[in-house]
Amino acid sequence: MNFLKPLMVAATGLMVIPACTCSDKTPTKEERAVFSPENMDTTYAPGENFYLYANGGWIENHPLPDDKSRYGAFDMLAEENREKVRTIIEEAAQTEADKGSVAQQIGDFFASGMDTLAIEEAGLKPLNGIFDQIATIENAETLIEVTAALHQQQIYPFFYLYSSPDRKNSDMVIANFYQGGLGLPDRDYYFDESERGETLRTAYKKYLNTLFMLKGESATAAQKKTERIFELETQMAAASNTRLENRDPQGTYNPTTLSELPDMAPGFDWALYFAKVGLPEPGKINVGQPKFMAEVAGMIDNVDMQTWKDYFSVVALRSMAPYLTQDFVEASFEMYGRTLSGQPSMEPRWKRVLNTTSGALGEAVGQLYVEKYFPPEAKERMLELVGNLKKSFAKRIDQLEWMGDNTKTKAHGKLNAIKVKIGYPDKWRDYSGLEVSADSYAGNVLNSSRFDFRFDLAKIGKPVDEDEWHMTPQTVNAYYSPLANEIVFPAAILQPPFFYPYGDDAVNYGAIGMVIGHEMTHGFDDKGRQYDQEGNMNDWWQPADAEKFETRAQVLVDRYNNFHVLDTIKADGELTLGENIADLGGLNISYQAYKMSLEGQPEPEKLDGFTDDQRFFLAYARVWAQNIRNEEILRRTKEDVHSLGKWRVNGPLPNMEAFFKAFEIEPGDAMYLAPEKRASIW
Ligand SMILES: [Zn+2]
Repeated sequence: MNFLKPLMVAATGLMVIPACTCSDKTPTKEERAVFSPENMDTTYAPGENFYLYANGGWIENHPLPDDKSRYGAFDMLAEENREKVRTIIEEAAQTEADKGSVAQQIGDFFASGMDTLAIEEAGLKPLNGIFDQIATIENAETLIEVTAALHQQQIYPFFYLYSSPDRKNSDMVIANFYQGGLGLPDRDYYFDESERGETLRTAYKKYLNTLFMLKGESATAAQKKTERIFELETQMAAASNTRLENRDPQGTYNPTTLSELPDMAPGFDWALYFAKVGLPEPGKINVGQPKFMAEVAGMIDNVDMQTWKDYFSVVALRSMAPYLTQDFVEASFEMYGRTLSGQPSMEPRWKRVLNTTSGALGEAVGQLYVEKYFPPEAKERMLELVGNLKKSFAKRIDQLEWMGDNTKTKAHGKLNAIKVKIGYPDKWRDYSGLEVSADSYAGNVLNSSRFDFRFDLAKIGKPVDEDEWHMTPQTVNAYYSPLANEIVFPAAILQPPFFYPYGDDAVNYGAIGMVIGHEMTHGFDDKGRQYDQEGNMNDWWQPADAEKFETRAQVLVDRYNNFHVLDTIKADGELTLGENIADLGGLNISYQAYKMSLEGQPEPEKLDGFTDDQRFFLAYARVWAQNIRNEEILRRTKEDVHSLGKWRVNGPLPNMEAFFKAFEIEPGDAMYLAPEKRASIW
């Protein structure tokens, strides 16, 4: 299932919305309200700390629940949305649905996850098939056969295999390899010398030890195996790319073929692997990290088979722990929730099971979700907004003093070619053939994983399906895909605090308008700009313009590198560069689109005591209000390409003259930035 898969598909999400039952009834005061004084903290001046000025009250009034590592306006919407999805799932569960129908699949999947008695009684039995496969490992050949067998169940020792459009021929889908196989979420954690690094490694070893013990190993054996697996993973981690290296589209594009693979990564029978995984003729293959693949292939013969068996068992248990008995669920949460994110307690079971169900049957749930909750009016308004944002972006490209005409023409071409998807797919995915029963939660997860793997592999060697979506409609997020050159806005994000059905234009441009501008800008950020209007990796820039882009981007890198996220820890300006370019670009483009929409119109009146410009910026800030745990700050600073909420507000805004004007911010104010220090790209 795709929640087991890291974000390696080259799409950039916004981050991680109302059931506007908007008919023709008059909106209530509450529905119209966007700013309420209790969400703000006016003991701060806007020029002192705008994030707190706009959100201090909200932050104070929404303390972190024990089952959250971060809780913000964004997460609050996601939570409200989960209640809606729950209604859908429960309704499906209550209907007397025919075997094989979508309602039966959704209802039974959810029911199996809630049946803790059956889960406890089954113990590790649902994994017996996997352990039997692992037991057949006795040499390199059987090892590779079992690797393929596990991959087919989306259990990934070593690396990932998945489909994606070819970066240099983006109409066609090809096979891709991506580094993997580690239990800590970043290769750097294996080498981090800080106290935090030490804590995480100790916790991780404890987790491995627990998995071995729960599987039935003696204490002595468990400890020995833990040390050995940790050593093995450290070797793989050393050969893994850093996150920064993985942000480089050129460096991670290494096309090859089955006959050439043995040269790139000798020691692994690739033909056998592809035959066993169900893709005997893979065609063109992109290897994301050749150095890593070579290392892993070389390790096959240099590690004893018992260690490989133990490694495979650990990988399977790690993947499946959240769906097994309470002991496994607790152990997994202790590592990935409590230790890594600082979250004191788990979410209630129904929420976890709902996420799994909604992940496994994403578009089936999505179809019911949009029927019930998505108003067609929202789509029309969005199309209009997108049109206005495009016009604004085009005008800004014309006005860029740093870019030459030749590059500008290409930039216009790319902007015009951006495709838009709003709400939900025109064509829904077919889940027939996916076997779901009310009896086995882990069994359902494994069935779904096999079903998804086959679905994904079947795309390889074929033209791209342009109707396909890579997020479900019930997801509170949005994305830009450089390979399709398209922006996508699922139904669930079209709700407050992003989209206010009854709100005035200023707030809608400040919130959802900015989201649209943000996603469009991804086509022109440090990564996105390396793709042309067809979605092919192709340098369309005049060298002098590219150089100027780099210089301008560096201003943002340097600024974010100096933001203190926690004590002495600073933000990573390079890792977050693409997102920070998109935040600033999105704001500039949306603000200008708003101004353009006012041409020939009377000056908007103050609302809730704020001018329209002030409302634009307050609506923007409102989206990022959040409380977050210290551990989660550290984790995200290491792993997340997005800046933290505070810095998504206080980072980009000081680069905008309109922001200073709106709140009369002047030299000497903490938020003020002199014109020559401001970043300006799009
Ligand atoms: Zn983004």
